[in-house]
Amino acid sequence: MSNKLTSIKSAAASAVEAARAAHAHAAEAHPAPAIAVSATMREYLAEIYRLQGGADGATTSALAERLDVSPSAVVRMLRRLDESGLLTHTPYHGVELSPEGTREALRGIRRHRLLEVFLVKVMRFGWDEVHTEAHGLDAGMTDAFEDRMDELCGYPTHCPHGDPIPTREGRIAQINDDPLLEVGVGLLAKVSRVKSEEPAKLRYLAELGLVPGAEIEVLGRAPFNGPMRLKVGEGREAREHVIGSEVAKCLRIVRPA
Ligand SMILES: [Zn+2]
Repeated sequence: MSNKLTSIKSAAASAVEAARAAHAHAAEAHPAPAIAVSATMREYLAEIYRLQGGADGATTSALAERLDVSPSAVVRMLRRLDESGLLTHTPYHGVELSPEGTREALRGIRRHRLLEVFLVKVMRFGWDEVHTEAHGLDAGMTDAFEDRMDELCGYPTHCPHGDPIPTREGRIAQINDDPLLEVGVGLLAKVSRVKSEEPAKLRYLAELGLVPGAEIEVLGRAPFNGPMRLKVGEGREAREHVIGSEVAKCLRIVRPA
């Protein structure tokens, strides 16, 4: 752990130095100077972007947990990212990405999600394995490598778990789906995203056919967050399954237009 922290620290420090130099150099000519963003910095920015969309936001403790580092390491990195103009961090209030910070975050997210598709489609990993496999692989990735993966995968728009892949220009599709747990009986819907990184849960969901794109119908539901009865699939391929709320809460759905 201390080794990891030391290397994160020194990587961040040298990146900040480079950013400062770039800033000093570019400030005369360009209003928005390019900042040298290290892989670690981008990993933080991407995680902040993901957490910002959630209920609790990008807190120090949430970041520490997600990135598997100590809260004090998070605080130090937030200070550096703030100094580089990639975000503003107000202690005890939270973090807000700057436009540059958002752009770098989306770049990191694009690479991660593209890698996931590549690992599933080309390298034949399971969708339950790719989150771990993709971790860290995007660190040394060049733009050319990213483009080649994109091409080999047929320019995918979503990762295997249904999350949108930002474009090369940093645009990301608006997400307009609902938690399965919030919909009523009788609803016909399509699974849009599966929010879990637990391999066992992902394998179980795949066994039931509950993957992005699957057609479902809510047939019944026991009260007090009880089990949910679903029809999964269409026509003769359709199967009935009963799932608990622990599994149901991972699923996001879109209603037919
Ligand atoms: Zn994914």
